[in-house]
Amino acid sequence: MFIGKTALITGSTSGIGLGIARTLAAQGANVILHGLGDPAEIERLRAGMAADHGVEVRHDGADVGRRDAIEAMMDRALGEFGVVDLLVNNAGIQHVAPVDEFPVERWEAILAVNLSAAFHTTRLALPAMMRHGFGRIVNVASAHALVASPFKAAYVASKHGLAGFTKSVALEVAQVGITVNALCPGYVLTPLVERQIPDTARARGLTPEEVVRDVLLAAQPTKKFVTVEQVAALAAFLCSEEAASITGAVLPVDGGWTAQ
Ligand code: NAD
Repeated sequence: MFIGKTALITGSTSGIGLGIARTLAAQGANVILHGLGDPAEIERLRAGMAADHGVEVRHDGADVGRRDAIEAMMDRALGEFGVVDLLVNNAGIQHVAPVDEFPVERWEAILAVNLSAAFHTTRLALPAMMRHGFGRIVNVASAHALVASPFKAAYVASKHGLAGFTKSVALEVAQVGITVNALCPGYVLTPLVERQIPDTARARGLTPEEVVRDVLLAAQPTKKFVTVEQVAALAAFLCSEEAASITGAVLPVDGGWTAQ
């Protein structure tokens, strides 16, 4: 479905981004795998994806908390492939703390990675998409783009911001073959969620098991974690030709969480 197209998925060395990268590669896209991690493990993922699906897979390790690093990454991507047809802004970080104790540098990092990075990749990817008359931008937001939880002020602010950014850009490019949408997953058991369980336990005075049952899954009527594959399938659909009329949408994949 995506043969000849190039996909850049930020934060695709782990979790949801990796699932989206695998799904787009399986449907023929060349992939720029992006993110941090152990170089040997990333090379194993990169080579495996290329071999499994017969597509080109590059890795870029730019720190998307830094504007200059994003600009260099986009220069490399556009220099090599000419256009990023499918841009998935997925890299994200979290920190759980009461707002009056929230470390200022974590606030700034979360806003930079979860929100400003999408602005920079989008503004730099759009000119080539416009020249081609086609583009798909999928922003991985969160149920926390629609509702809040305590102790996640920076994350909730960044994801609400990302939803607003999505809608605004969608309106700007609606007539030139480019769609811009946000996905809002509920809890997916990735390293990002695994890492916040001990912090949430401390902040709320609960055991880790109680956090899973009474905080994370309590929010989701299905009482099940959302899977990476479920989010990736919707991301791939949004990248398809058939999704041309879906734009500016902020779509929950949250087991019913935000229906409440
Ligand atoms: P993860 O921790 O498994 O993966 C995060 C990815 O982002 C990794 O590849 C990491 O290397 C990359 N990354 C983080 N900071 C970076 C930086 N400064 N520079 C470059 N790369 C960086 O997390 P995940 O759970 O897969 O989350 C992916 C996205 O999904 C995030 O935006 C997150 O907010 C969102 N999300 C996750 C859940 C969930 O329950 N897991 C729910 C809703 C939304």
